[in-house]
Amino acid sequence: MSTLAVVGGGPAGLMAAEVARTAGVDVDVFDAKGSVGRKFLIAGKGGLNLTHAEPKPGFAQRYREREREVAGWLRGFDAGALRAWARGLGVETFVGTSGRVFPSDLKAAPLLRGWVRRLREQGVRFHVQHRWLGWDDAGALRFATPDGERSIHADAAVLALGGGSWPQLGSDGAWEGMLCERGIDVAPLQPANCGFDVGWSAHFADHHAGAPLKPVVASWRDTAGRERSRQGECVVTATGIEGSLVYAMSADLREAIAREGSALLHLDLAPGRTEARLHDALAVPRRGRSLGEHIRRQAGIAGAKAGLLREVLDADAMQDPGTLAATIKRLPLRLQSPRPIAEAISSAGGVRLEALDDALMLAPGSGVPAGTFCAGEMLDWEAPTGGYLLTACFASGRRAGEGAVAWLARRGARPGNSP
Ligand SMILES: Cc1cc2nc3c(=O)[nH]c(=O)nc-3n(C[C@H](O)[C@H](O)[C@H](O)COP(=O)(O)OP(=O)(O)OC[C@H]3O[C@@H](n4cnc5c(N)ncnc54)[C@H](O)[C@@H]3O)c2cc1C
Repeated sequence: MSTLAVVGGGPAGLMAAEVARTAGVDVDVFDAKGSVGRKFLIAGKGGLNLTHAEPKPGFAQRYREREREVAGWLRGFDAGALRAWARGLGVETFVGTSGRVFPSDLKAAPLLRGWVRRLREQGVRFHVQHRWLGWDDAGALRFATPDGERSIHADAAVLALGGGSWPQLGSDGAWEGMLCERGIDVAPLQPANCGFDVGWSAHFADHHAGAPLKPVVASWRDTAGRERSRQGECVVTATGIEGSLVYAMSADLREAIAREGSALLHLDLAPGRTEARLHDALAVPRRGRSLGEHIRRQAGIAGAKAGLLREVLDADAMQDPGTLAATIKRLPLRLQSPRPIAEAISSAGGVRLEALDDALMLAPGSGVPAGTFCAGEMLDWEAPTGGYLLTACFASGRRAGEGAVAWLARRGARPGNSP
């Protein structure tokens, strides 16, 4: 029987393992941590957003520059297929108000437990605490284990090592250097779905870190220079801003910072009111009220939103109703840098899709053994939160698993040393 080593037991690796095992391949899954799927479990903490109900063309556009390639993976395994697969594990899903799809109990643990149990029953072998170190001279996979180093030969391998965010969960991006050394074209890993540093004054940070800003409408320029805007919520942090609204624009903002050194974002702090109405309300006499109280009563702006006005306007400008109204509707925030990748929800960059064939196998002739496939977040695509990340991980894991099965069948089994 042909042997497949799957390195990395996240959603992408487990999906590749499932596909290959179902096709009769002998499958071993290796993971550096003491258990598989740790990031998947954390993803379930605030409610596992498994996929999204957005119709096809829009869904694929979420993958930006990689729309075409990811659309190809989704043809093999889309949001509907993912929901049916979860149902097969006894986990029903529902579509939330925003179109996001969740398991009915919102949790990841039952789904992961059931999945791993089923894989074991199907004969997939799990090897935890096996940190992949690269290949030896004979092309075998090298692992650091608690019992010392181990070399494993397999007929094919799927690398599903994740991106670089939340490294404490196992995906530390250490593979980046290993693959680059072998001549594989890897786009540097970068934070995606991340917060940004603004550089608040100490006073603002002390008083408002942790405060939500809601609702606000953010306006920014995308990579094509088009003005975009979106309503949502974000959170003030000690150094800047984060939250779902910021994550949604993070790719454009990160690229603007890389290009221009900083990115300009505008916030409408009072989405329900026009500038003219705000102006009229703020122009009425204060009648002895403090400026803060006047702005709160007349414009509904208080707390962190009022603090933001003081961050960007000097004392004189704060007295001018016209300037105040204009700034409430279009408060400029100059973002200095994305937060470090370790804090991001996901990462951009990774193995460039041009280094892989359609089945996600690294090109023959590259510096890695033939029959090496890649899947999941370690590939060079990115997407916003909303279930798009996991969907592409599952779909690419499936594509790589199917690719490995087809490649093994074409090549015919060669004797290998099963672990
Ligand atoms: C807080 C948080 C919340 C999230 N919420 C959502 C959500 O609701 N919806 C959504 O779609 N996405 C969400 N994501 C993103 C999603 O979890 C990831 O995109 C997804 O888990 C990536 O899957 P993967 O299989 O490619 O990699 P991972 O899940 O990262 O798995 C990779 C595996 O490889 C192992 N590994 C790494 N290096 C080595 C090595 N050298 N040797 C051996 N093993 C190694 C790791 O231990 C890990 O188990 C969230 C992420 C975070 C951090």
